[in-house]
Amino acid sequence: MISVRHLSKTFHNPDGSMLTVLKDVSCDIQKGEVISIIGPSGTGKSTFLRALNMLEPPTSGEILVDGENITAPGYPLHKLRQKMGMVFQSFNLFEHMTVLENIIYAPTELLHLSDQQAKAEAMDLLKKVGMAQKADVYPSALSGGQKQRVAIARSLAMHPEVILFDEPTSALDPTMVGEVLSVIRQLSKSGLTMLIVTHEMRFARDVSSRIFFMNEGIIYEDGTPEQIFDHPVRSATKAFVNRIQKLVYEIDSDEFDYLQIHTGINRFCIKYNITDKQDLAYSLTKQVLFEYMRNIRPLTFRLTHTELSGETALDFMVENISESPLNDSAREHLRPQVNNLIEEPTTRGFRVKLIL
Ligand code: ADP
Ligand code: MG
Repeated sequence: MISVRHLSKTFHNPDGSMLTVLKDVSCDIQKGEVISIIGPSGTGKSTFLRALNMLEPPTSGEILVDGENITAPGYPLHKLRQKMGMVFQSFNLFEHMTVLENIIYAPTELLHLSDQQAKAEAMDLLKKVGMAQKADVYPSALSGGQKQRVAIARSLAMHPEVILFDEPTSALDPTMVGEVLSVIRQLSKSGLTMLIVTHEMRFARDVSSRIFFMNEGIIYEDGTPEQIFDHPVRSATKAFVNRIQKLVYEIDSDEFDYLQIHTGINRFCIKYNITDKQDLAYSLTKQVLFEYMRNIRPLTFRLTHTELSGETALDFMVENISESPLNDSAREHLRPQVNNLIEEPTTRGFRVKLIL
């Protein structure tokens, strides 16, 4: 359905410098595929999506959609805009229109639907994204998650064959990510072709038929979720998918701000969807900092989470000691509460690691 051939994009900056963001991107996308695009920031993921729907005309290369070269001079872009919708990180709703008006605007103007038909379809779509009760309010009265659900409904109202999502949840408060992902998850089962730029690895793995790992201006590795996440071929892919999320605090005296740590753990657990481990993380952190390692300062405390394997751990690291700061009674108390208790020397000192 979409065929991309040797696409490149070079930006010419006002100061005369140039930046080649897309070097040589080629791929074929079949109807109904759900493709997640992952990769470090600044590697051209957004530029690629914007080139695909000609918001950012490519420097060279071709894009064929249903056999037609959309990059050819004179190609009627309104035809493409009807086939391909886009959902942005920042929602881009019309603030001076109600939710319903936002949705019926393009269908009445561009598809020439009657007001009545456009409204009926809009209400169906709003039901689908769980927003029917907000049809008559203005976007300013909505939360970020609600705005994004309306933006998705608005995009669907044009009956697109393809929807491009550019980090649809990255501007949202962590508590609202789930409601938007579940709408997209539902859509992924509807036969619509979707390309989703996302940092949500678990989600990408669940919903996608294929993953593009973009790096250095190319599609660096392309495969099924199993191939990319479990058996990546290239080392940069491996490093990216197995990266570890960290929350780090240096604790140098007893005056440290425990409330800040508590809040940090809370936000971290919401962000990485591990709220089931939150109470255990609070409790163990407290026990170690206030009881078992009370006299050990300074120390570095880390909460780590590897999204793909799902491993969550608490690390307590102390410099310039070579033996474990835990005594037998501490060990005995801690062991039954965790999946694993690891005590190990490091290059600079010693680490106690609790795997939750
Ligand atoms: P990603 O979405 O993977 O984070 P982007 O596609 O947004 O990456 O950007 C890739 C690079 O291109 C970045 O260095 C960015 O600053 C640059 N870039 C993006 N758009 C423009 C533009 N319109 N003009 C100049 N540079 C740009
Ligand atoms: Mg981007």
